[in-house]
Amino acid sequence: MTDANEPEPVLLSKHAKNLLRFLHLLPARMSSHDSTRSTIVFFAICGLDVLNSLNLVTPQMREDIINWTYGGLVVPRADEKQCGGFMGCRAMLPQTDDAKVLECMRQYQWGHLAMTYTSIAVLVTLGDDLSRLDRKSIVDGVAEVQRPDGSFSACVNGSEDDMRFVYCAATICHMLDYWGSVNKESMFQFIMRSLRYDYGFSQELEGEAHGGTTFCALAALELSGQLDRLDATTLERIKRWLVFRQVDGFQGRPNKPVDTCYSFWIGASLRILNGFELTDYAANREYILSTQDKLIGGFAKWPQSSPDPFHTYLGLCGLAFTGEPGLNAVMPSLNFSMAAHAHLKQLHEHWRANNGLSHLSIDGSGDATATTTTTKKTTSSSPLISAQ
Ligand SMILES: [Zn+2]
Repeated sequence: MTDANEPEPVLLSKHAKNLLRFLHLLPARMSSHDSTRSTIVFFAICGLDVLNSLNLVTPQMREDIINWTYGGLVVPRADEKQCGGFMGCRAMLPQTDDAKVLECMRQYQWGHLAMTYTSIAVLVTLGDDLSRLDRKSIVDGVAEVQRPDGSFSACVNGSEDDMRFVYCAATICHMLDYWGSVNKESMFQFIMRSLRYDYGFSQELEGEAHGGTTFCALAALELSGQLDRLDATTLERIKRWLVFRQVDGFQGRPNKPVDTCYSFWIGASLRILNGFELTDYAANREYILSTQDKLIGGFAKWPQSSPDPFHTYLGLCGLAFTGEPGLNAVMPSLNFSMAAHAHLKQLHEHWRANNGLSHLSIDGSGDATATTTTTKKTTSSSPLISAQ
């Protein structure tokens, strides 16, 4: 029997089992997420990593996930539009050898910034060495979707352009250690024009300040090495706006209900600004735990709601910031584990030691295609894989 005064435990193994399930099958009610499967893999893999449970992913499964992820890579030919990056699902990859069909389908294949960010993050977390990536073509694809106002669209085929994709662009360039012709200055100007009168950031110009967007803005500034361009007074005011989002858990905007995921969005923002210690850890933990599903694991946005991979992962990260036992440390701006970040830093060192730019492309020709079956294997040098 549990003592009523004892703090409720985080059901670590149930959360791991819950996330692992999403790597095997998706419930029918999630079929509308087919085009964003990479994000579900991201929540599951990175969640298992934060739970220190990547050992539940067998070596065969790990290889399958890495190969599936690379299967979504689009590398444009020289005469095609700059649409390099990862797709979110495989619906545009027909299972056929018919060259005519394969050629025809190329016009429907393009990278999407959010899918590219989550795909690379999954590869890094699984300890892959990214050697199957043509870093230049991916970053060319990022530069191609930058708008004149400094923001980014998700893909070349046209989409919304706002702070969410500014964040994705920054994560991709930072992870690939290459910014190419991405305009960091106009990106900075867009971010600063989105700082509102109350010192939160809005999703698009003239919008309302929002917790998720404020995370995107601050993380993009940090990842592009531009956070120190903000003066101390501005940073303190942003911190104040963030701290005031705590009720017990955190809300995304003033007068809105609290929601588990904001323990990450607001928590990570405060971690980036070194202000997380100004929050009430116990109240935050208690709220997140009130959304824990004790039967099947996972966290929901609100108590009594259904858990989902998004709130499960972000709830775990929110708890990790408070030093919850059993959880691995999380790198706030990239939104994956510190162990994955250490592996990424090793890759950066390796690339830099091997002449950076000339090491960008796989073979220099840049004519690999998404539909070409590759037998090339990448290797794992990550301590997080061998240790488990
Ligand atoms: Zn939420």
